[in-house]
Amino acid sequence: MNLSMLNPQQQAAVRHDQGPLLLLAGAGSGKTRVITSRIAYLVGERGVPPDRILAVTFTNKAAREMQERVTEEVGRKRAKGMVVATFHALCVRMLKEDIERLGYKKNFSIYATADQARLVRDLMQQLQVDGKKFDAERLLWIISDAKNRLVPPERFIPRDRDEYSTLAAELYPRYQKALKAFNAVDFDDLIMLVVRLLQEFPEVREKYQERFRYLMVDEYQDTNAAQYLLLKLLAGKHRNLCVVGDDDQSIYGWRGADLGNILDFEKDFSGAAVIRLEQNYRSTGNILAAANAVIRNNKKRKDKALWTSGEPGRRIEYLRCEDEEDEARLVMERIHAERFKHNLAYRDFAILYRTNVQSRAFEEQLRYENIPYVLIGGQQFFDRKEVKDAIAYLRVLVNPRDEVNLLRILNYPKRGIGETSADRLIRHSAELNRPLWEVLADAAGVNDLGDKTVEAVTGFVTLLERYRKSFARTRDLAHTARELFAEIKLEDEIYRGTDDPVKARRRADNVEEVVNAMASYQEREEKPTLAGFLDKVSLLDRDQPNRDGKEKKLQQDAVVLMSLHSSKGLEFPVVFMVGMEEEYLPHKKSIEESFDIEEERRLCYVGITRARNHLLLLNAAARKKYGKPQPRVPSRFLEEIPAELLDRKTGDTPPITGEPEQEKMATNFFANMKAMLEE
Ligand code: ATP
Ligand code: MG
Repeated sequence: MNLSMLNPQQQAAVRHDQGPLLLLAGAGSGKTRVITSRIAYLVGERGVPPDRILAVTFTNKAAREMQERVTEEVGRKRAKGMVVATFHALCVRMLKEDIERLGYKKNFSIYATADQARLVRDLMQQLQVDGKKFDAERLLWIISDAKNRLVPPERFIPRDRDEYSTLAAELYPRYQKALKAFNAVDFDDLIMLVVRLLQEFPEVREKYQERFRYLMVDEYQDTNAAQYLLLKLLAGKHRNLCVVGDDDQSIYGWRGADLGNILDFEKDFSGAAVIRLEQNYRSTGNILAAANAVIRNNKKRKDKALWTSGEPGRRIEYLRCEDEEDEARLVMERIHAERFKHNLAYRDFAILYRTNVQSRAFEEQLRYENIPYVLIGGQQFFDRKEVKDAIAYLRVLVNPRDEVNLLRILNYPKRGIGETSADRLIRHSAELNRPLWEVLADAAGVNDLGDKTVEAVTGFVTLLERYRKSFARTRDLAHTARELFAEIKLEDEIYRGTDDPVKARRRADNVEEVVNAMASYQEREEKPTLAGFLDKVSLLDRDQPNRDGKEKKLQQDAVVLMSLHSSKGLEFPVVFMVGMEEEYLPHKKSIEESFDIEEERRLCYVGITRARNHLLLLNAAARKKYGKPQPRVPSRFLEEIPAELLDRKTGDTPPITGEPEQEKMATNFFANMKAMLEE
């Protein structure tokens, strides 16, 4: 273990191996590097058994990188058994061991947004609330917020005269009850239930306190109240909790992250050592100066300034474009020019934006120019309808009580169980207070069901029972899944669902992709199970840049497109921050609904500090809305960057309409090429 690669403060942090430690430092100062070095040090120098170490991060990608780095340093054998995971993955692991104590079964389903929304809509219907009047996701948001603050249904107090909050108060207890009846949990439950386990069962708490003697948490600034309590409980005995974070990069306040966790750490963990890092190893001087200048405008922060011993580097380019197409084209020209001039690979470029819809124009242009790219986030693969349908079958096979998914497939592909029959079955199950699955299995006992329907239901149940057995017996899950999808004629149903054969083909391919994902899962895993596969799929959700397929693509040579939120912790030689306009950054919501402008500024800071060598800021003078150009105002954050750091490439607002497309493109290209070569 060679500590000489680290600066004195980093070394101190690595050597501090007993008691609470807070490492508070700005972007690119080597916080993540301290965590990996610290793990290597504990295992390599202090002889700590790796299975006593737990490291928590926010994305799967970060978790994997961490695992790889440590493995490199201490060797594969010694790294085995160490747990490096996201909060959610960690909690799934813990629940698999102990959830039965809370009255759930081990084969629980994990509900992500779409399943949750469906459940909420069903509940609204039961309450005879007009489903069109209320947005299910907004209701879920309120419930989720309560859960993140650890407020249980019985203590939820609705906001006065707020009809959403009032309805949420009615839904919340019903929602929790239904989840439990379906043997399902949502993402917030993952954390909440583990907290309950640790609080209510001393033997469980002790087990984990012993198992995880050394805890490390990256991106600590983004933990919420529930996650914080979880850490506090886990570290309660040995108090070997090392957290690293940057209050200036807290960007999940909207999801309940509590900056107080980092600001109060010293109070909550008495005797905590605090180490600060101020040297930045990532970015050039100019980029760093811009980042410092922007973040300085926030009032709520611990004052700190980053410095670098490196060169000032190039000035930051500010490109004011005509409209979204122009913006996309300029980015392409830049990629071509920079690649050529500085001998870069495609993967050295990242295009960062505030909202996922902004990616469209760039994707089109990248495709048009034949530039390889990878899109992170956006419409998630596993959120697509055909994929969800296929997965729903698998979920029900694992957990037949999963009613949301059971209803999704009951008559899909069509098998003659119409809506009226489905309603009768549901009502019957509610009246008898029996799980729907049991009612289906005993369909002959339900009144008013026609013989044909009974036959259809029985056929459905038999089919699933048969596949449940096959999946339990086989090691080749992918093969069995392919058989199942063929037997239910999923592909035919997909083709019937649309007139567009190209679309249908793509959808059918997506189902095939699910089977492929399963095949690569079973290759990787020692003991592959259907339930294990589904857990993996669930955890890949949530705007994390890390599906396996994506991960592979990232390693290939491709330009990266992603939101500012998902770029956290990453670095790229060249970064384009696009849409630097009011209403994008800061986001419209934060302006109108008086959300935190400071959080938007932190997001801007995160974006700037992703760049190593060159940063380009772009915005458009106008963007089309319903086909008409609407003028746009440059982001206020641009004004916070000292003018001498900026290199304005285009003059004042150009006219909205102008020369023909082709010509304009050529002019821009050569103008920019020329500017580049003159530099
Ligand atoms: P962020 O806040 O963005 O997550 P961070 O503080 O976690 O950043 P790292 O990602 O750990 O920073 O490090 C940033 C870059 O600096 C990496 O490329 C890392 O390898 C490099 N680095 C860190 N410490 C040193 C050091 N002592 N000497 C040289 N390079 C270093
Ligand atoms: Mg980091």
